[in-house]
Amino acid sequence: QVAQKVDVHEGINNTLLILNHKFKTKNIKVIKEYGEGIPQVSAFGSELNQVWTNLIDNAIDAVPQQGGKIIVRTYIDDTCIVSRTVAVAIIDNGIGIPKEIQNKIFEPFFTTKGVGKGTGLGLEIAHRIIVNQHKGDIEVSSEPGNTIFTVYVPIDV
Ligand code: ADP
Ligand code: MG
Repeated sequence: QVAQKVDVHEGINNTLLILNHKFKTKNIKVIKEYGEGIPQVSAFGSELNQVWTNLIDNAIDAVPQQGGKIIVRTYIDDTCIVSRTVAVAIIDNGIGIPKEIQNKIFEPFFTTKGVGKGTGLGLEIAHRIIVNQHKGDIEVSSEPGNTIFTVYVPIDV
């Protein structure tokens, strides 16, 4: 598999288009806060789109039926010692993730959604794509009404 230069905003925009019917059904307000001058990243095919899909799908499930809001924010992040990264934060105003399960959610088959509703694979796949395949990182911070998944994709040096 060969890495290609991809524009994260283009990938996110495509993902948002595909999910648009779900935003409509649940009256979710989607806000793009894209940073300026975000460089392309090297990525494998459309795999990053799978990551955006899995994270935004979870945000859709988490937000309330009324007043649901999802923010997609991008910025250049210099805090990683290995390389600069493009950071993509998916922020929702949903129920949140209790502290005691935050270390379990990336495990395969971990779900709180009940039989037939969740596979428990979305975050495991996202983690594998970002950490193993792209040498990036993914982290979560959550309290009721404010959940942030941040994905860091390395920028080539
Ligand atoms: P699934 O969506 O099939 O349950 P995931 O791996 O995508 O599996 O997510 C695992 C679990 O992490 C979910 O069942 C849910 O408990 C929790 N979770 C993930 N994202 C969010 C979110 N944005 N808000 C609240 N809980 C979340
Ligand atoms: Mg999921």
